[in-house]
Amino acid sequence: MVEIKKQFIAGAVCTQCQAMDKIQLIKESEQGETQCSYICVACGYTRSDSEFEITDPDVSPVQLVQPKKN
Ligand SMILES: [Zn+2]
Repeated sequence: MVEIKKQFIAGAVCTQCQAMDKIQLIKESEQGETQCSYICVACGYTRSDSEFEITDPDVSPVQLVQPKKN
């Protein structure tokens, strides 16, 4: 069973389209192994690592913004 968690990263800038706060961290967990990838919801650009630029040095990649609940 694959568990997928998606969360936005505050302060992250897409290296492709320069959109801020549009980067989603996608964690896929399967049998104790976790794979992280990043997707820009603005342009669809994806990366399998953390090369998105974090503009605010006080914001760590683990500080996440929850999407609004309707
Ligand atoms: Zn983008």
